[in-house]
Amino acid sequence: MATHVAGSPDWRCRGCGQPWPCPALRAMPDPASQDLLPVVSALLTAAIRDLRGRPGGPDPIDVVRRFLWWLPLSHDEARAIALRMR
Ligand SMILES: [Zn+2]
Repeated sequence: MATHVAGSPDWRCRGCGQPWPCPALRAMPDPASQDLLPVVSALLTAAIRDLRGRPGGPDPIDVVRRFLWWLPLSHDEARAIALRMR
């Protein structure tokens, strides 16, 4: 897992080149127990900033749901988080 780290500004995995969080990272068992929230929260603001202006790139809500993949967020909940991350 340690090699599957996010790279900015394109937010692809430095280990495998897939969009981060990459499939290898998402495949971890029991992500809720891995203390990911502080790590991902620290990255999320920068990721939204980097990705939102890209042609065809994800909007902030999609970025929130992608980065917090293990949380069962509704669209409205993801939107509320995205608004706070500006
Ligand atoms: Zn990876």
